[in-house]
Amino acid sequence: MNLGKRLYDLQQIDLDLEKKTEALSQVESQLSHNEALTEARAEVERKREDLAELEKKEITAEWVVDDLEAKAGPLQEKLYAGSVKNPKELMSLQHQVEQLKSQIREEEDKTLEIMSQVEALRKEIASRAAEVKKLEEEWQKRREQLLVEQTELRTTIDVAKEKRDELAATVESAHLELYEILRARKQGQAVAGIEQGRCQGCRITLPVSELMRARMGELVQCDSCSRILYLG
Ligand SMILES: [Zn+2]
Repeated sequence: MNLGKRLYDLQQIDLDLEKKTEALSQVESQLSHNEALTEARAEVERKREDLAELEKKEITAEWVVDDLEAKAGPLQEKLYAGSVKNPKELMSLQHQVEQLKSQIREEEDKTLEIMSQVEALRKEIASRAAEVKKLEEEWQKRREQLLVEQTELRTTIDVAKEKRDELAATVESAHLELYEILRARKQGQAVAGIEQGRCQGCRITLPVSELMRARMGELVQCDSCSRILYLG
């Protein structure tokens, strides 16, 4: 096989390897993050913490109501028992009872408000938790697909690397070095085909003498773009 052809084949393998390696790193990056799921889980966690706080507030609010009722009860009994005869004392007692009753109403309203917040938050957590479960199931499927892709890509890359090594072993090291230098400079396109007497890298028409040398299988570089020429 002539040198141009071998280097051209090497370039095909290298271009393919680059693509497959990039695809593998994308698959691996997808396998290591799932932002949607992580974020959804964190949100449920935050809401659960909020709920725990709110439940504590609910208990405290209920205690406040109980305390006020415990204070109001005996005063009310005293008031209705008719044992207080002094008008001034009676008015003061009535006033105290009224004040406590209004405080109780206020605190009961607060408790109800907290209870309805607790209820709403519980519903929201249940619905978010269901979303997380769905995301987990989807992720499980996606992960399995990605793992299959990862294995396939790794195998393809290993096979291509072996082929590359075999082919590279047939090329003199000086030629291989030139190929590598051009590959780095020409975005992977170190070797250009010749079609209708033109270099396919830069489209210039090549001198007949170079075409002949390329046909003989010698290493010929395009005068204009320096690429190694390959006549198929
Ligand atoms: Zn050229």
